[in-house]
Amino acid sequence: MDVQQLANLLFPDITKTIADYEAQYPPRNLPEGAVVTRIAPSPTGFVHLGNLYNAIGERLAHQTGGVFFLRIEDTDQKREVEGAVEAVIDAMQFYGVTFDEGATVEDEIGAYGPYRQRRRKELYQTIAKALVLQGLAYPCFCTEESLTAMREEQMAEKANIGYYGKWACCRELTLAQVQEKLQAGLPWVLRFRSSGDPANMIPVQDGIRGELKVQENYTDFVLLKSDGIPTYHFAHVVDDHFMRTTHVIRDESWLATLPIHIQTFDALGWQRPIYCHTATLMKMDGESKRKLSKRKDPELALSYYREEGYPQEAVWLYLLTVLNSNFEEWHLANPTANSRDFTFSLEKMSSSGALFDLAKLDNIAKDYLSLQTADFVYNGLLTWAQQYDTDLAARMKQKRDCYLAAINIGRGGDKPRKDFGSWRQAAAFLSFYDAKTFARIDACPANISLEHKQQILQQYLDTLDFADTPEAWFAKVKAITEAMGYAVQVKKYKKNPELYPGSIVDVSNLIRVAITGRQNSPDLWDISHVLGETETRRRITEYLHEA
Ligand code: GLU
Repeated sequence: MDVQQLANLLFPDITKTIADYEAQYPPRNLPEGAVVTRIAPSPTGFVHLGNLYNAIGERLAHQTGGVFFLRIEDTDQKREVEGAVEAVIDAMQFYGVTFDEGATVEDEIGAYGPYRQRRRKELYQTIAKALVLQGLAYPCFCTEESLTAMREEQMAEKANIGYYGKWACCRELTLAQVQEKLQAGLPWVLRFRSSGDPANMIPVQDGIRGELKVQENYTDFVLLKSDGIPTYHFAHVVDDHFMRTTHVIRDESWLATLPIHIQTFDALGWQRPIYCHTATLMKMDGESKRKLSKRKDPELALSYYREEGYPQEAVWLYLLTVLNSNFEEWHLANPTANSRDFTFSLEKMSSSGALFDLAKLDNIAKDYLSLQTADFVYNGLLTWAQQYDTDLAARMKQKRDCYLAAINIGRGGDKPRKDFGSWRQAAAFLSFYDAKTFARIDACPANISLEHKQQILQQYLDTLDFADTPEAWFAKVKAITEAMGYAVQVKKYKKNPELYPGSIVDVSNLIRVAITGRQNSPDLWDISHVLGETETRRRITEYLHEA
C-alpha cells in the first residue's frame, strides 16, 4: 500500500504537518514540577459535582506555578446545549476556580488554543494524516449492520469482542478498493492499526492509584468518525499533547479505555501525561453503595448546592474531606483556616468509591457557619436570598439590625450554636423572627393542660419586664414553675415524675412555642429582645387565647 497516496486520498486538504504544530505550541516555559492541567467538560448543560471534583487540579496547578485551563469537548454536537459553556464557567467561578487559559464567555484566552474541540478539526486531521502516513491508521467502510453481525459472530465463537485481526476486514483493503469506495461516496471512519497483544500487560503510573498494569490494546479503535470529527480517545490525546498538559485528572470510568490512550501517545512518540483517575462518586442506597445518578440524585448536579445555599467554602471542606485522606486531620488542626491553604496532593486522593453523604455535608456546613461572624452570615444569606427568596431579601434589607441581632444569638464562645448549614436552612430557621413568616410549628408540650397553659402564659405576661437582666428574667420563670407545681429541677422531676405535672423544661418550652412557634430555639430572652416587647406580648397573648 502506498501510504502517501492513501493519505492524500483521505485528507486532500491537509497540508500542515506535525512539525508545524510542534512549532506553534512549544513546550511551556514553566518552573520545574509545575503542573499543567484542565477540566474538559462536554457542553451538555449539566454541570456535575464531578466537574468540581476534577477542578481540584486548579489547586495543584496553582500550588506548583503551573497552568489550569478549560477545554470544551464539543465533538458531539447532538448533545450540546445552548449556554452550557457559560454555565460551566459560572459554576466554576462561583466556587472560586479560576482558569488561566481556555474557553471564556466572550471567546477564549491563551496561546494553546483553540480551546473548543470543534475549532481544532484541521489539527486532528493533520495528526490523523500523519498516522496514515506511518501506516498506523486506515479507513474503514464497515456499516453498523456488518459491525453488529461481527459482534454476534464473535459472541457465538466466544472470541474477544472488537475490530481486530481477522475480523478487521477493512485493514487490508487495497488502494484501488479504497479509491473505489470513496468514489462511490461511502462513509468511512479512520481506525488505528493496532499491533497490540492482549497477552501483554503494560505498566502505567497513575497519579492517584500508583502503578497500574493494563492490558495492551489490540483493537483497531476509531480515531475519526464519519464526519471527520475525532472520538474523545483521539481528540484528548492530541489536545493534551499540544496543550502541554502534564496531568489528566478525570473520572475512573476512563480507566477502561486507558490502554487506547497510552497506545496512541506511544505510537505518536509523545510523552504520556500523568493520568490521575479519581474515584467515582457513590452513595448509600439502603444497604448497598451505588453510583450517583443524574436521574435519581439531585445532589449530583452542582447547581443543587448553590440553590440549597451551601456556602462555597463548606462545599469545598466537604469535598476535600471525602476525597482527600489527609484533609480532615488538617482541618481539625486548623478549623478556621481557608481550605485553599491546605497543600493538596494527588497521592492522598481516594482511589475508590468516594462516598457522598448529605448528612455529612450538613454537619460540616453547620460547623463552618457556626464559626463565622454575624456579618458574614447576614451577607451570605442576603446574597442567596436575592436570587432564591426575594421576599426574604427585601425583609432583610428593611430590618437589617434585627436580622443581624437574630443571627448573632448564640454565636461566638466555645460552643456556638449550629442551627443551619445552608442559606435555605437559615431562611427557614430565622423565619419566626418576622411576623409575616412566623408560624407555630410545634404543639404545646404534652404535659401541659389547656388550663395550665393559660395560667402560665398569663403569669408570664403579668411579670414580664423588658428591663430585667437575663438572671432576673429566668428567676421569674422559675417562680412561675414553682407556683404552678412543676419541678424546677429536672433531676427531681426525673426521679419522681408522678409528683409533678411536668418540669421547668415544659414551662420554658411552652413559652418558646408561644414566642417562636417551636419547642427548640436559641436563648428566649435574647430572642424576645430582638422581637421587641410589643411583638413578644402580642404572640404570647395570641397563644394564650388559642384553644
Ligand atoms: N469530556 C470528558 C468528560 O466530560 C473529559 C474527560 C477528561 O477530562 O479527559 O468526561
